[in-house]
Amino acid sequence: MYKQTVDFIKSQFPGKSFIPLHEPRFAGNEKKYLTECIDSTFVSSVGKYVDEFEKRMAEYTGAKYAVACVNGTAALHMAMLVVGVQENDIVITQPLSFIATCNAIAYIGASHLFVDVDIDTMGLSPEKLKTYLQENAFKKADGFTYHKTTNQKIAACVPMHTFGHPCRIDELQSICEEYNIALIEDAAESTGSYYKNRHTGTYGLLGTFSFNGNKTITCGGGGAIITNDEALAKKAKHLTTQAKVPHRWDFVHDHIGYNYRMPNLNAALMCAQLEQLNGFLENKRTLAKQYINFFKGTKIQFIQEPSYSKANYWLCTVLLPDRKERDEFLQYTNDNGVMTRPAWTLMNKLVMFKDAMCGNIDNAALLEDRLVNIPSSVR
Ligand SMILES: *Cc1c(COP(=O)(O)O)cnc(C)c1O
Repeated sequence: MYKQTVDFIKSQFPGKSFIPLHEPRFAGNEKKYLTECIDSTFVSSVGKYVDEFEKRMAEYTGAKYAVACVNGTAALHMAMLVVGVQENDIVITQPLSFIATCNAIAYIGASHLFVDVDIDTMGLSPEKLKTYLQENAFKKADGFTYHKTTNQKIAACVPMHTFGHPCRIDELQSICEEYNIALIEDAAESTGSYYKNRHTGTYGLLGTFSFNGNKTITCGGGGAIITNDEALAKKAKHLTTQAKVPHRWDFVHDHIGYNYRMPNLNAALMCAQLEQLNGFLENKRTLAKQYINFFKGTKIQFIQEPSYSKANYWLCTVLLPDRKERDEFLQYTNDNGVMTRPAWTLMNKLVMFKDAMCGNIDNAALLEDRLVNIPSSVR
């Protein structure tokens, strides 16, 4: 089965001796826009491409506002700052995620609380969240939710759309509403993914994206925040640009700010990449269909989108029967020119977060044991 899998993957990427997990693709106006950008000398964080990218990003996702950021981690940090997460507050997230989600929480000095994922979506589980809050949280007269044991305010919840598969975000939204917890979607991996016909990132108060080199579309390094809330958008733009009060020559700043704005050079690339996004998505969907047919009826289970969502299939994902077979599969594929990789080590196991609060995380543990990402590049 492993040899057939390697042969099949190689047949999907003909003419390559080594098949990476996800390669960037620059087949559109990248060079043209970059040249224009360089010729204009506006290469830094002021320029027409930054504004143009924000406009197009808002249009594409259907959000009212988009704020360009230097990367996805900064976008997450900023989103938490603008909803008012403070030091010693609790932020809920999932143990199965890339480190950036947890790092951003740590930058604020907030405490992590890990709640399990669903197996099918690999994203934060509404069931588990509800149960956890019912058992461990209570609402105070100020209208906010606090943790029973530590008395800390539960300020935000940051689910992640794992590998581009949307989590049950509408259910999470209604739970967060009930408990008055700010919902921020880590949509770093889900540009082009839709849940019930709405783009990921539009259910939360804010959604954040990454355009790092390995993501579906990339500008080398970049990120964005989207929101329908004008005040939050303005605040995010202000704080990402050193909180400078606009003036023709005076330097006045009215808050501790951040140098988090995307440079015009990167934004030029983003404009070109967004133009190609729908083509990339179709191309990746075709590959996912081939994988679905190939793995059908085998002991390797390909993770498919459910009927109510549309995944971008950023990183195609399979489940092996157990950890031992997963290790054999990783060994065989990587030895034979096909790059594959396991899930991230669960966040609650890392030295920085080993003492963090954590609910029952059986599903995340199962996925950690069995999950493997397989080559998913645009062809
Ligand atoms: C890629 C990624 C980010 C942010 O990454 P940057 O490299 O900072 O752009 C955040 N969260 C998740 C889940 C990611 O995969």
